[in-house]
Amino acid sequence: MACDRKLLGDELIVCTDCLSTIPLTEHAILDQNGIDLLFHDLIHKESRTIRYERGAAFAFYNRERGQNFRLMIERGKFGAHPNPQIFYFLGRLAAQAYIDSDLFDDIDYLVPVPLHPRRLRERGYNQAEYICRGMSEVLHIPMDTEHLLRTRNNPHQSRSQFHKRSENVKNIFSVSYPEEWKNKHILLVDDVITSGSTMFACMRQLSPIRGCRVSAFTLGWAHK
Ligand SMILES: [Zn+2]
Repeated sequence: MACDRKLLGDELIVCTDCLSTIPLTEHAILDQNGIDLLFHDLIHKESRTIRYERGAAFAFYNRERGQNFRLMIERGKFGAHPNPQIFYFLGRLAAQAYIDSDLFDDIDYLVPVPLHPRRLRERGYNQAEYICRGMSEVLHIPMDTEHLLRTRNNPHQSRSQFHKRSENVKNIFSVSYPEEWKNKHILLVDDVITSGSTMFACMRQLSPIRGCRVSAFTLGWAHK
């Protein structure tokens, strides 16, 4: 999926060389990591009612480090042959990498950040859902795709400032039957975090639910 070399023996989807070049964040061994700092900052500025527990990214996602890791994710979504299996594979790998940390302690549901139905139709799958499937198999924590819903498509936003991005995505999510998430601990899962605005918009929707806590996990962190 990254270097185009033919896979050998028991290699699956990604070759051993490319696996060894994934620029791991080692968030599991840090008390407070960059994802925590990102969300603590957003919560402090925007919405202090969010009950955020913890977060982590599996690897760095940028041009300078781990070019092949970026390719895995980009080709998985946009390549000539988009392949959801890469996300399942990376979800398993990431869960295994963090299984001994406390990141997944007392999580009730793995919840993929939903794609808008239109994009879901175009791509044919939600990559975050495949990440959750892989994680769920390793962690034995159920995935929930029923409650958190996307209500409208957001405009392409990669060039705008955080505040504008934040306004763009503020109300695009909703939670159906929120009482079923009362006192639950939700792990939001996505493929890549950049500004955090999309995941933060999900967190906003969870904050009115009594006793509902939220954590965040992503494969890639687009950190400068
Ligand atoms: Zn390779």
